Amino acid sequence: MFTYQNGWISGANIRRVDSPNFNQRPAAMAVDVLVIHNISLPPSRFGTDDIEQFFTNQLDLTKHPTYEHLKDVKVSAHLFVKRSGDTIQFVSLLDRAWHAGVSQFQGRSGCNDFSIGIELEGTDDLPFTDEQYQQLIEITHVIRQQFPQITPDHITGHSDIAPGRKTDPGPCFEWQRYKAAV
Ligand SMILES: [Zn+2]
Repeated sequence: MFTYQNGWISGANIRRVDSPNFNQRPAAMAVDVLVIHNISLPPSRFGTDDIEQFFTNQLDLTKHPTYEHLKDVKVSAHLFVKRSGDTIQFVSLLDRAWHAGVSQFQGRSGCNDFSIGIELEGTDDLPFTDEQYQQLIEITHVIRQQFPQITPDHITGHSDIAPGRKTDPGPCFEWQRYKAAV
C-alpha cells in the first residue's frame, strides 16, 4: 500500500529523511539495477538511530570506538529497512545515492550511476526478520513498476558488485525467498 511520486515512496511505515549524500545521475542514464546491502551501527547492534545520523552526516563519531573509521565518509542508501520493517527513504530514486562505491555490474563500473540501493538493518551472520522480507518485497514491487528494467537478474548484492571489498548482505540473506516473491 505504497504510493510513488517523483522518486519518493510513501506509506504508513515509510518516513522521509533527506540525506545530502547524493548527486544527479548522468543524463539519460537508465536505472536498471537494485543493490541489497546490510548495515548496523554500532556493528551487530540494532534499533539505534545511528544509521539515520550517519546517512545524514550527523553521527557523533566519539560515540563508539568503531566509528573512528567513519570520519569523512559520506554515504547513503536510497532506502533503509529496520528490523521492524519500518523504513526511511533518504534519497529520491531519481537521484544518485552514494551506496555502492567502487563497483561493477555485468561489466559496467560505477554502479551508483544506474542503481538503487536498499540497506537492511542487519549483519552478515544473523537472519533478517520476516518484517524486513515483507517490506523489501513490497518496496521492490513499487520500484519495479517505476523502473521495469530492474528485472530479477538485475537485483544483486553489494558483495556481488564489489567482491573482495564488501561482504553484505551476507550468507544469511535468503535470495531464493526474496527473488521468488518478486
Ligand atoms: Zn553495502
